[in-house]
Amino acid sequence: MKRAVRERDGGRCTFVSESGRRCQAPALIEFEHENPVARGGDATVENVRLLCRAHNQLAAECAFGAAFMERKRAEARR
Ligand SMILES: [Zn+2]
Repeated sequence: MKRAVRERDGGRCTFVSESGRRCQAPALIEFEHENPVARGGDATVENVRLLCRAHNQLAAECAFGAAFMERKRAEARR
């Protein structure tokens, strides 16, 4: 499954900015669930995309809210 995602996304971040520019950062990439598993998303090719670290974090903050992510990071530091 991961190989199929990597091939489809060309091994690069799939984030597209408001001006329509694709990020293009090569993969330090993490597999991001567009519909988070925590909310019932599946680990399928359709539901997973490649994102660079920065955009993965951004997407997570959008999905869960910045406060939630801040709490998670604080927990991880402990
Ligand atoms: Zn990116």
